[in-house]
Amino acid sequence: MNTVETVQNEVQQQHLLFQLLQTLDNGLVMLDQNYKVMLWNGFMENHSSIPISNARGKDLFELFNDLPEAWLKRKIDSVFRLQTRAFCTWEEHPRVFDFKSTRPLTGQSPMMFQNITLIPLLGLDGRVAQVCMQVFDVTEIATKKIALEAANLSLEQLSRTDRLTGINNRGFWEENLEQEFQRCKRSSAPSSLMMFDIDHFKHFNDRYGHLAGDEVLRAVASQIKRSQRTTDLAGRYGGEEFAIILPDTNAQKALLVAERLRSQISGISIEWEEQLLNVTVSMGVSEFDKNMQTHQSWIDHCDAALYQAKNSGRNCCVVAAPYSRRHD
Ligand code: GH3
Ligand code: MG
Ligand code: MG
Repeated sequence: MNTVETVQNEVQQQHLLFQLLQTLDNGLVMLDQNYKVMLWNGFMENHSSIPISNARGKDLFELFNDLPEAWLKRKIDSVFRLQTRAFCTWEEHPRVFDFKSTRPLTGQSPMMFQNITLIPLLGLDGRVAQVCMQVFDVTEIATKKIALEAANLSLEQLSRTDRLTGINNRGFWEENLEQEFQRCKRSSAPSSLMMFDIDHFKHFNDRYGHLAGDEVLRAVASQIKRSQRTTDLAGRYGGEEFAIILPDTNAQKALLVAERLRSQISGISIEWEEQLLNVTVSMGVSEFDKNMQTHQSWIDHCDAALYQAKNSGRNCCVVAAPYSRRHD
């Protein structure tokens, strides 16, 4: 091969290489130390609508004034300084460049999520002369992951929610009581438990029907949601039985909370087939005691107070007598 042929061959190689970079489905940007664009490929031209002839020599942050400037400059500077690659995932910065997604599938974001890689490019003297920024379109992966996370979250919420009333179900509520019980063992702050049960609910169902009963359960749960404090944790413990954990609350204060809720529930009127229906509840209150062996001891102690409330004529609240070791 003569010299002319060799040069032609090299030109041909360069030409093909250039086409390769132009048609690559990732963005390529070459930057100098002052963040000036030296080159970018077809991907960048297409998504920014700025041809390389208009971009060359311009400051990257003037071309895109909505880039996360301080953060990106820090990243680029570190590549020059440390002569190592730097990465940025879409989870850190969902999109560095405000590009539209080219493959908007159903449910996929119209904006492009990107991963960015910054690579040091060495000059002939072995020093980092430029930085190559690679932009990867990860919209498909990102939208799938976001959808999966949302699905997991709603599954988790479903698994801890009582279907009829929308408040916490027994399983989730009891897990929390167990945790509160352990926390109380280590702490000196008081904590109380409140359990209540709708009075004569069997009779109510027999008289007005099960659907009317369901409506009552929903109304009672709504009242609990409306009146509970943010730190309280309520749940449906059984059929027509509810329970609330009251952290940092002694029995005396818990009794006030219980009395208020009891009175609110007795004031609810449920419209049902042109009638206004009312129910009352009986409540038991029990303050945590260090002698309790398990969270079940706490429930039993509270349940005994609830039983007393039933025996005292219903529609009232009873605080459990001081806990004694004999219970366990
Ligand atoms: P007490 O005042 O002693 O609590 O009497 P009670 O009739 O409420 O107690 P009992 O335990 O005899 O009856 C509870 C009733 O609650 C029976 C059951 O049909 C009803 N119940 C339990 N779960 C549901 C539910 O999801 N929907 C409806 N409508 N009723 C329910
Ligand atoms: Mg009951
Ligand atoms: Mg009942």
